[in-house]
Amino acid sequence: MNSYHDGFHWGRALSAALIASMAWSATAADVDAEAMRASQKDGSEWLSYGRTWAEQRFSPLTQINDKSVADLGLAWFIDLDNTRGLEATPLYSDGVLYTSLSWSRVMAVDASSGEILWSFDPKVNKAKGRHACCDAVNRGVALWKGKVYVGTLDGRLIALDAKTGKQVWSQQTTDNSLPYTITAAPRVVKGMVMIGNGGAEFGVRGYFSAYDAETGKMHWRFYTVPADPAKPVEHPELAEAAKTWSKDTDWSLGGGGTAWDAMAYDPELDLLYVGTGNGSPWNREIRSPGGGDNLFLSSILAIRPDTGRLVWHYQVNPGDTWDFTATQQITLADIDIDGKQRQVLMQAPKNGFFYVLDRATGELISAEKFGKVTWAERIDLATGRPVEVAGARYEKEPILMWPSPFGAHNWHPMSFNPQTGLVYIPYQEVPGTYSNEGKGYAPRKAFNTGSGSSEITELPREYATGALIAWDPVKQKAAWRVEHPNHWNGGTLTTAGNLVFQGTAAGQFVAYTADAGEPLWTFDGQTGIIAGPMTYRHKGEQYVALMAGWGGSAALFGGDAAVATGSRNVSRMLVFKLGAENRLPTLAEPPETERVPEPVVASKEHLENGKNLYSQYCAVCHGAGGIGGGVIADLRHSSAEVRTAWEAIVLHGAYQSKGMAGFSDSLNQEQAQQILDYIRHREYATWMEAMDAGNKD
Ligand code: CA
Repeated sequence: MNSYHDGFHWGRALSAALIASMAWSATAADVDAEAMRASQKDGSEWLSYGRTWAEQRFSPLTQINDKSVADLGLAWFIDLDNTRGLEATPLYSDGVLYTSLSWSRVMAVDASSGEILWSFDPKVNKAKGRHACCDAVNRGVALWKGKVYVGTLDGRLIALDAKTGKQVWSQQTTDNSLPYTITAAPRVVKGMVMIGNGGAEFGVRGYFSAYDAETGKMHWRFYTVPADPAKPVEHPELAEAAKTWSKDTDWSLGGGGTAWDAMAYDPELDLLYVGTGNGSPWNREIRSPGGGDNLFLSSILAIRPDTGRLVWHYQVNPGDTWDFTATQQITLADIDIDGKQRQVLMQAPKNGFFYVLDRATGELISAEKFGKVTWAERIDLATGRPVEVAGARYEKEPILMWPSPFGAHNWHPMSFNPQTGLVYIPYQEVPGTYSNEGKGYAPRKAFNTGSGSSEITELPREYATGALIAWDPVKQKAAWRVEHPNHWNGGTLTTAGNLVFQGTAAGQFVAYTADAGEPLWTFDGQTGIIAGPMTYRHKGEQYVALMAGWGGSAALFGGDAAVATGSRNVSRMLVFKLGAENRLPTLAEPPETERVPEPVVASKEHLENGKNLYSQYCAVCHGAGGIGGGVIADLRHSSAEVRTAWEAIVLHGAYQSKGMAGFSDSLNQEQAQQILDYIRHREYATWMEAMDAGNKD
């Protein structure tokens, strides 16, 4: 009795001291390995991009569940000063949400009130937008021991004080004279911030690096492709990789293999998994004439985090020639296969096969098509290599095939629910055309890949659809599937409340049952949703948070298929909880263009040149076929002022502060005029089509 009594007092004194010390010394976002481990079971916090190191995007929270979700409502929202795509997953720690916006800006938000506590603008030179293949997006931040980390579009890795948002350190991780960009969320492992980069569409050499979270000092860098053999080899893996490249490789093109998104970590195996991207240029015939696997393009790499040395690798697409990256989300899980529990790594990369690998050894366990795939018959389990169909490499003839460079699945995060055993994949079905003509290949100056992409002018809307697929990774088949009329839908979140959340390109945010795909709840987000949602618990209440803002590569480039969504960019942070009844304001209709276009008087050759130049330099942001996708200006409707100032804008960067760089290093006056006349021609042609359609009605 006595001892119990003493113990009771001791316990009270201890907790009082603990509370006092917390009040004085608690740091915001005090995330460490202990906290990361604890969060696997306790779903209160969301401390890393994919919630935990395993990147399952599964939350154990159950307050919002298949019974209660009907009462889910908007708790608060923030209208954001942001006009480009929002791809970030917010993080939650200790009452605060941390998220990023376009142009690599960061903000910290009070998780219950929605009050912005601080914001940080790294002031990226907007001319850098020219090097961003896929919008000026950012997918989020990392947290570690009181600091917030962000990678910027211009290649900096920046550490901020989590309490104040003030910069603690900044490291330039790239050579800014080259078209490198960072859009990924950093990950922190063993006190090191892991960061890769993008840029393979323009011609760079891929790598990822580990920086000391405290000081910003670089610990190691892993290059994903070799450099010119005449130069010293940076690390031993590259000597082996070099044997898989042609002796005629043009090393000045950079090779590619950028690690621009996926990472995961297994603390027991002590392995960091990194996905790598396509080659520079896409077309292997130009990149590595005569062939070769071109390691480590389109691969999953298992890295020892202390040393940066490679433990195993699996190449998803040997000798990739289609922009089939293996940068799509890597998810770790322990699942029963053939009566044995296996430690697996799962990926649904662009190429349309769902891969299950043993994550200790890299052994391929299974791989099956999760959507429409015509470039390969199957993956040979003995060799781990795809059995490609004849002609898939478009060496002699152009090819129309599935999937496309947009991928059967892109960066939009998938989620895995250990209770249902299902993976929820934001699937899309879009064909791609490739040809070996390599017309006007201009490395580093334009989005041009040596695969005849300058031929692409339009993506008809009926060719671009999507679905939410609940994939059984053991049976390697779909358990259920919900069709979407458009491609480029949002990432997914799944919870122990038997729920899956996903937003659509058309702006609907929907909750489904995780076991059967039954829709239970819908919210009109008023803008195309592409990001993955997250959930957290604050003061006993569960919330769901989402960055809503139409954008990203398919919104920009998609042309008619992007217009089909009916979406435009309205940038908001939306946060939901049970019983809340807040409402979004009604959106004003966008102003309609009143100009009656006139037919363009110009030679066929002049307009053809304009079309090719537009496709090469402009379409990646302003839309295929001159049709803007609801994010960046639709040039068919550009004002008289813009057209008068055309040369100043297109050649000399008069609109650089808006994200439109000057192209005087690539285009001359005559070419700028050809582009304008092509756009005027498209304005007239699409106006006439609309008039004809109207007359028929
Ligand atoms: Ca790519």
